[in-house]
Parts: sequence; C-alpha cells; structure tokens
Amino acid sequence: MNSHSFPDSARAVVIGGGIVGCSVAYHLTRLGWRDVVLLEQGRLTCGTTWHAAGLVGQLRAHQNMTRLVQYSAELYQKLEAETGQATGWKQCGSILVARTPERVTLFRRIASAARAQGVACEIISIEEAARKYPVMRTDDLLGALWLPEDAKVNPADVTQALARGARMGGARVFEQTRVTAIQQKNGAATGVATTRGDIKAEVVINCAGQWAKQLGRMAGVTVPLHSAEHMYIVTGRIDGVHPGLPVLRDPDGYIYVKEEVGGLLVGGFEPVAKPWAMDGIPENFEFGMLPDDWDQFQILMENALIRLPALETAEIKTFMNGPESFTPDNNFIMGEAPELKNFFVAAGFNSIGIASGGGAGRALAEWIVQGEPTLDLWPVDIRRFARFHDNDRFLKGRVSEVLGLHYKMPWPNRELLSARPQRRSPLYDRLAAQHALFGSKMGWERPNFFAPTRADARIDYSWERQNWFPYAAAEHKATREAVTVADLTSFSKFWLQGMDSHAVLQRICANDVPLTPGSTVYTGLLNARGTYESDLTVSCHTQVHFLLVTGTAQSTRDADWIRRQIPPGADARLIECGAAYATLAVMGPRSRDLLRRVVTKPQELDDATFPFGAVREISLRGTAILFMAIRRTYAGELGFELYIDQAFAGQVYDALMEAGRDLDVRNAGYYAVESLRLEKGYRAWGRELTPDYNPYEAGLSFAVKLGKGDFIGRDALLALKGKPPARRLLSFVALSPDTPIAHGGELILRNGEPVGDVTSAAYGHTVGGIVALGYAATGGARADDAWLAARFEIDIAGERVPVRASLKAPYDPAGARLKG
Ligand SMILES: Cc1cc2nc3c(=O)[nH]c(=O)nc-3n(C[C@H](O)[C@H](O)[C@H](O)COP(=O)(O)OP(=O)(O)OC[C@H]3O[C@@H](n4cnc5c(N)ncnc54)[C@H](O)[C@@H]3O)c2cc1C
Repeated sequence: MNSHSFPDSARAVVIGGGIVGCSVAYHLTRLGWRDVVLLEQGRLTCGTTWHAAGLVGQLRAHQNMTRLVQYSAELYQKLEAETGQATGWKQCGSILVARTPERVTLFRRIASAARAQGVACEIISIEEAARKYPVMRTDDLLGALWLPEDAKVNPADVTQALARGARMGGARVFEQTRVTAIQQKNGAATGVATTRGDIKAEVVINCAGQWAKQLGRMAGVTVPLHSAEHMYIVTGRIDGVHPGLPVLRDPDGYIYVKEEVGGLLVGGFEPVAKPWAMDGIPENFEFGMLPDDWDQFQILMENALIRLPALETAEIKTFMNGPESFTPDNNFIMGEAPELKNFFVAAGFNSIGIASGGGAGRALAEWIVQGEPTLDLWPVDIRRFARFHDNDRFLKGRVSEVLGLHYKMPWPNRELLSARPQRRSPLYDRLAAQHALFGSKMGWERPNFFAPTRADARIDYSWERQNWFPYAAAEHKATREAVTVADLTSFSKFWLQGMDSHAVLQRICANDVPLTPGSTVYTGLLNARGTYESDLTVSCHTQVHFLLVTGTAQSTRDADWIRRQIPPGADARLIECGAAYATLAVMGPRSRDLLRRVVTKPQELDDATFPFGAVREISLRGTAILFMAIRRTYAGELGFELYIDQAFAGQVYDALMEAGRDLDVRNAGYYAVESLRLEKGYRAWGRELTPDYNPYEAGLSFAVKLGKGDFIGRDALLALKGKPPARRLLSFVALSPDTPIAHGGELILRNGEPVGDVTSAAYGHTVGGIVALGYAATGGARADDAWLAARFEIDIAGERVPVRASLKAPYDPAGARLKG
C-alpha cells in the first residue's frame, strides 16, 4: 500500500489531530511503532489547539505533572531543529503577583515546593517585578514570584512540528476523516469505523479533546469532561510591550497576560465559568469560535484594567472565545480505559494542554508500548473516575467551578462545592443532623469533622490553624483516650470468589495471604518493577471467598488492575461491593467495652477469641442483624471496623451511640483520622505509596514475604533486598508545637541540603506538634541512627522548621494497648 492510500489496518490508530494526538503519534514512532495512523475529522489543530494562548508554565501541584511539562519544554525547544518546523518557542519567564497576604504565603510555599521539584523559582521584590514588567501597575501588590524557565510557544506550530516528526517516524496522518464507531471484540478495542472506511488496529487512542466524551460513550467508556467557554482579548501595539516580556499572572484578579505582536493577549479564569454545548458539540465545528461575551469577560477586563492601565486606551483587535474541555477535578484524563482493553484516552486538558501535551504524549505512548505507566500518573489516571461521573448534569455543574480553580487559592484541604452531594452513606442524614461538615471523595460525602453547632460546620480556609482545629482535636483525643465512631463507608470493597481466588491473591500480593477463615492480612499489590499499584487488607472468609478493602479513591483502579492479573480461565471473580456495605470504625481504648454492650455474645470479643487482625461475624443484640467486624483501625488504637449491610447500618450506629453515652462516645471525621494515622506512621496510597516507590523505600518490608513463592514484583525486590534504598520514607515531628502548619509538598532538608518533600502532614494532637511523612534521598547511605541524627528541617512557607526524623512512628503505644 502506498503512503497516501487509506489503510485498512494499523498497529495504532490515534483519533484527533490536536496537540495531544500529534504528540502521542510522535512519541509512538519514537518508541519504534512505525505503523501509526492519525485521524482528524477536520484539519490538524482545528479543535481547541489552534486558538490556545500558548503559555508553558512549568510548576504543577504534583511532581510528576511538573515533570511532564518540563519534558514538553525540552521537546519544544528542539523540535524545530529536528523537523524543520518552527514552534515559536520563547523562554520569556513568568511573573506571578499577589494582591493578598494569603497569596504571598502561597508564593513562599510554591518557592519551597519548586525547590523540591527542581524548578527554578524565586520570590522577587515588587520593584524587581516592576522592572521586569514596566507596563504593570504595582502599587497595590504585596508580593511577586519569578519563574525564569517558563515560556511561550505557538500552539499550532508546535502541533504541526509534532505531526511532521510523527510522519518522519513512519506515521500517516489523514485529515477530513471522522471516526464514527469504535469496533470491539471480547472486551477489547479492535479498530475504528470512519467516514473513509474501517481500520483494524491493535490499539485505539482517543485524543479527541472535547469530543472525547462522545467517542468514549460510543465505546462504553467513561471520559468525564465538559466543554466550557474560555476567552481572551488581543490588543494592538502598546508602548513598552516587546517580545521578551515575561508572561504575567495575577491570580487574585483571575488574569494572565502574554505579549502578542507588540500588544497584549489578556485571558483568564473567571470564578464562575460558562459551560458550553450542553446538547453536544455542533457538527463541523472546525476552527470554530463562539460569540464574544463581554458580560462573561467583564470580571477579567475590570481586573486587567487595574493591572495594566495602558489597556484604557489600547485598541482591542480580537476577542477570542473558544471552547475547551474541563474535567471534574481540573486534571486531565489519561490511560487505558478500564471498560475496554486496548482503548486509550488522553483528553480533557483543562487549559493546560499546550504546556502538558509533549509530556503527556510521551507518558501515554510509554504506557501503550510497555503495557503500564512508567511513573506515577495517578492524578491524571482515567481510573480515578467511576461510571457515575459521566452524568451531564453533574459535569455541567462541576465545570462551572473547575475552570476558576486555576487561580483560586489552592488551600490544602480545599473542597469543591459544585454538583454535590453525590453519593451518600446511609448515615448521612444522622451525621448531618450532628453538624458534620462533609468533604467529597470519589463522589462520596464524607464527614471531615463535627462542629458544635450548624453554623460552625464550615471551613474558614487559611494556611494556619483553621476554625475546625479544636473540633478535630477533640475527636482525635477522644479516639486516643476513650472511643469514637467514624463513618468510613466510602472505603472501596471487593469480594474475590472462586476456587482459584487464593492462588490469584498469592500471585498479586506481596504478603502471604492466609487460607484460614477468620484471618486478615495487610499487603501491597506491586507491579513488575516492585513498586506499589495499591495496598489493601485481605480477609479470608472461606477458602474460596475473600474480602478486599482499599481506599475510597481507588475503586475503579484497583478493580481494573486486579482483574487484569486474573489469568484467563481461572475460577476467580472480583465483585465490587463498596456501596453494599457501610463501614463504621469503632476506635479507642474503650472500643471493646462499647462493642460488648451491643452484641449478642460479648465474650466473643475477648482477646483470645477475637485477636488483633481477625475477622468475625457478630450479631446486634436483640435483633436479627449480623455484620462483619475486623479488629484493626487506621488510628493505631484498639478498635474494630464493622462492615454492615447498608440496610442495617442505621440501627447499628444508633445502638453504638446509645450504648456509649456514659463512655462519652463521639463521632470522628476524616481530619481526625488523618492526624491519627500520621502519628502512627500509617502510609496512604496515592501519597506515600505510589508506582514510584517500593516497599523497602516505604519501610514496609514486614508486609513482603519473599519466601512464600513467586508473586508480581518479587524478582525486582530480590534484586533490591539488602541494598540501602535510594530514598527512605521518614516520619517527622516538629520539635516546637508553635510551628506553622505543614500540609504536604514542603521541601525537606538534611544538613541544609534538599533531600525530598513531604507527602502528608497534619497537626498531631497527641504528640503536640506537626507530624509528617516524606521521602528523603539517602545518597546510598543506610538510614541508621547516625544518619537520622543529622539536622533535618522542613521548609514551611520559607521558614525552616527543625524536625526530628525517624523511621519509627511518632506515636507508638505499647503493643498491649493497640492489641488490647
Ligand atoms: C482560549 C484558550 C486559551 C488556551 N491557552 C492555553 C495556554 O496558554 N497554555 C496551555 O497549555 N493550554 C491552553 N489552552 C488549552 C489548550 O488549547 C488545550 O488544552 C489543548 O489544545 C487540547 O488539545 P487536544 O489535542 O486535547 O484537543 P483538540 O485540539 O481539540 O484536538 C482534538 C481533535 O480531535 C478531533 N476529533 C474529534 N472527534 C473526532 C472524530 N470522531 N474523528 C476524528 N477526529 C476527531 C477534533 O477535530 C480536534 O481537532 C487554551 C485553550 C483555550 C480555549
């Protein structure tokens, strides 16, 4: 077949000729896949890419997201030499300015995080900012930040360069070719139908931007995104504006500014966005623009006039209003669809697709070629969503808020407010009546804390102690000293059933999974690199019937990963049952006393009959209600997790609260659970445990049994065993209780040198100071007492706080207390 005839088969079909599709095609060819076909319904760049502003801002909230942009920057700089196509790359740097003290504190935190992430970034004086950006008004500013490596590009040119590079690597690009259906067989994509004929393919990649949701739906795949209008203006020439001017961001005024042909391009992220295309994207929306909307732009214009007085008299040459797709959490969507094998997605770029496109394209190409991601991509993993997220009403409501998040204060515990409540535990109304303040995770409404009055059930955001501090402190202390009940219904739960279940578990778990009914084990699920895919608890109910419990956010991801490991023909079925069972944690030294009062046979709770880590069925006194209890908590106290049929949950909860009155039983929320687990040094998936870390680095070798026989990751661990890990997870305690609050992301220093960053932090109410976890590079040394005795500090918003570093948990009660 010659290169111009339309193919009937290809190794990979990429749908969408925007920057992301072209980047994926380019990188596939770089990884040696020659037979790549890219299909574009219109012409290259005609979707959202052509009208992007072209800002390439490097620093992101998550280290690996920063790495993706850093790679984009490297790539865009060299593409012209490689392909002969200019990209408009200009490293002009960027300035962020602050109008409020909170924003200044944020800048200090950003500067610390940037150091941890290896991004050049410095706090500069307002005078210095004025020198760098003479057309800016500065008399109302409180601070400024300078990122010298930030850049700007011409998005259409970068895309053409990527397409040219892909062609040079063997890919074929077909414009004016629309994909009309995704073909599939036996749960896997097998090709596409197009307006020019069918193409069989080993792999189909949906890079269709705002159209990706519809394409996903064609294939039964959830791609939760929604279009919103995004607008900017471009002025005529302005005195003092030149091509070397940095990009300017004034987040308190919601605006960004870029030089454009001697004038200014002024855009922004208004707090309440305008969703678009509620009834679907119109046909043939090629190089489409939306009508000018000065009402929507007003808040941006008002702020731009404050910052750039020259705009008063400048000519407005263009009003650009183009749609872009946004996702429920403002992160893009990548990976192989859990619903359909060999169907990959890279879409929903929330206005950072130009900056992220190079890195995201490479990361997805590696995922495709190697069968799994090569670094932790959890913040953008398609499996962080579930089916219910693909609801148009939810998406429309949510994107109204999401667009504005770019410049809203990124408070550490910020909760989104739109399109809620979604999923509710059976105890929701009871807890709401007791002034629970709910947060949202994986759609679940979860109590963060309980306030004394309804009016107090709110979060007053700040970088320091927030209004709820005393409420969470009381819940924390009650858990350590008496007893609390926490509604953990949002936990993900699965049954694994069938004759081969145990064999499957032994293959996927690093720990030895018991075959004794009534026992449980904590284990990691590792990949072939020996790093974490998940961590969970397995309970053996019968020898063919196991309950798996994991974190709230991971239900889709864990189900997908585990199902992929079940060999064809094996008798093992994974059944999601998260919403079937409510989960109540009864925690604290009086937890057993409390539980004894409500169960039919109190003696069954004795240490001998119900030891630490066991699972038992117990019945609620005076009723026909039976439920499961597992003796363990995430708080490091004596306690039990109860797994209760949703229909019974209210009665069990009421019985506990009634019976525990004289024990002063109280509700506990997630903020208390977080500070409790950090005092006890318990790791959390997505923070301390990710595909970037192995059990030796994480300090969890106790949960690895190399001698039990083969399991996924064992070879990698055998190669590592006995060698000092390159980095080590440490617990940190701030020596002074009056230090500023750490929230995660802060730089860790050892003897003044950066060695890592904080993964989780909270105020530990029992130890009376900040408690944190974070990885520190060891430089090949053993993390022994002498090494740990060095001077450790955490940089909290520019203040170097001395901390004590330890491999052990800051709070470690006698085993007898934990085990009762
Ligand atoms: C006003 C504005 C300013 C922006 N500024 C910036 C910025 O400064 N920096 C930054 O990083 N990002 C910016 N963005 C965001 C950026 O433009 C996007 O994130 C990026 O272009 C998304 O690229 P994409 O390839 O995912 O989507 P698109 O460019 O939309 O590409 C998807 C392609 O898929 C094609 N397609 C869809 N369905 C089919 C089908 N069935 N068959 C075949 N082809 C199909 C479409 O025609 C389209 O060309 C901005 C966005 C807007 C709207």
